[in-house]
Amino acid sequence: MASHKSILPKLCQKASLFVRTNGVACFSLGVADGRLHLRAMHRTDGPPLSEFWFSLDESSEFIDAVKACISTGQSVRIPVAMSVGPIKSIQCSMVVPIVWRRPSVEDGDEPFEQTIGVMLFWDPRESSEISEDDKKLAEGLARQTASVLVSERLIEIEEASIAIASAAVAIVLLDRDDEIHLINPMAESILNGGPMVERKLAELDQAMQLSSLVNRARVSDGGHASASFTSKAGESYSASAQVARSGECVIVLSKVHMSSTAEQIVGQVAHELRTPLTIIQGYVMTVNALLDANGSDEDVAECKNMLEASELQCGRMARLLGDTLNVSRIQAGRQLEIHPLTCDVSEMIGLLLSEMDDALSRHDVHVSIPGECTAFVDCDKILSVVDNLLRNAIKYSDPGKGIWLTVEKTDVLTICVRDEGIGIAPEDIDRIGREPGYRTETSKDQAAGIGLGLVYVRKAVEGHGGTLSISSELGKGSEFRVEIPLERDPIDESGVVVL
Ligand code: ADP
Repeated sequence: MASHKSILPKLCQKASLFVRTNGVACFSLGVADGRLHLRAMHRTDGPPLSEFWFSLDESSEFIDAVKACISTGQSVRIPVAMSVGPIKSIQCSMVVPIVWRRPSVEDGDEPFEQTIGVMLFWDPRESSEISEDDKKLAEGLARQTASVLVSERLIEIEEASIAIASAAVAIVLLDRDDEIHLINPMAESILNGGPMVERKLAELDQAMQLSSLVNRARVSDGGHASASFTSKAGESYSASAQVARSGECVIVLSKVHMSSTAEQIVGQVAHELRTPLTIIQGYVMTVNALLDANGSDEDVAECKNMLEASELQCGRMARLLGDTLNVSRIQAGRQLEIHPLTCDVSEMIGLLLSEMDDALSRHDVHVSIPGECTAFVDCDKILSVVDNLLRNAIKYSDPGKGIWLTVEKTDVLTICVRDEGIGIAPEDIDRIGREPGYRTETSKDQAAGIGLGLVYVRKAVEGHGGTLSISSELGKGSEFRVEIPLERDPIDESGVVVL
């Protein structure tokens, strides 16, 4: 970022002349990431080092001294030999805080004081200890450095602002209270809601999509979350949020480029359609031959069986095409329509299982479904949900492994599919089914896929006012649990759920 000519190296060089040392390094303290970044260094005992940084989460003689220096605002001497990154065996050193002080602007206003970095002085030439005079000099130089560091940071901020303003992606910076602090023109045009700075994100958010993304990022381990986002104009974006240590959050929206995903969808659907189509072709040819031969009653019964089986396979093909259309509608930012009807979920799932007989035959399948399970739901969507979850359980676990399908009905319809397959790493759990096209690394070696099925499953479940939760252990297996409240009617008056 620092394209301007920094005067910090000169300052370090001067410092090493005044204070009798073998080296001086100036570090700035990253407000957002809590890291210590090397900004300039002068060494008489070797070439200066370019970029390196330290995390304050680590523990070492140097970092412990830096932490003590930041918390007390006082210089800290380190009498033992230590290493600072690539500089080995520094004999005797001292860490001096770089404190930025701003006097009060108005009466009654508190003066502002913040440690913005540290200076490290090491290895005096003449004595084994940095003298009191040298310490005083060092502290004076650190005070001068404060204003240089602040002005260089301001230049960096200005450069960053220019870069952000002209970026080809949308960027929104939120403060700790989710108030918009900074927004670039691209983000303004996507969110399309008039003046935005200092407004709450929730006021501008389409269906709370970004707010829930930020909430997820705030509670996640690495402070990161991603999701798909549909603007008011109906355009699709992939959104990611990163929360800084200080609590600020950056949201980046970039346009979803569908062409390669679209190609993959076509390939995958063609592949999936081939199996039922081949089965139907086989049956139709046999039925034809039997009818031509003017067959017996037994042959007629056989023909009937084959026609029924063909009907099942046609149902599967129709559903597959329906899912594909729905996925491309979601990708195009359109609505997923939920059309609930009273239907017997158990009966429908029973039919689905007979359709999937072949696909399930290589696994140890356990099914627990109530004899009857009447519910007011969009039955086609629920079947697609079960179909997707079962097909994933098959794909992502080896033949012979167990698969459990459980359906329960209380005031909630619960559908649970568990497998003993490859499992999902904790950091992937939040991303699958939320980021279109996202696949875990392990799964890519196991089976082909396009990472859209679970996006559809989640949207279909959420369209019913329900939830999809995933629990998994890498190498052990996964459980996908769908819970749909039956008492609450999630459907608005138009019968359309806006996603
Ligand atoms: P696809 O299987 O076509 O890639 P999905 O949206 O159904 O798409 O799944 C997204 C990703 O989630 C998969 O690519 C895989 O990485 C992971 N996944 C889904 N189901 C399972 C499962 N049962 N076990 C392990 N990983 C799974």
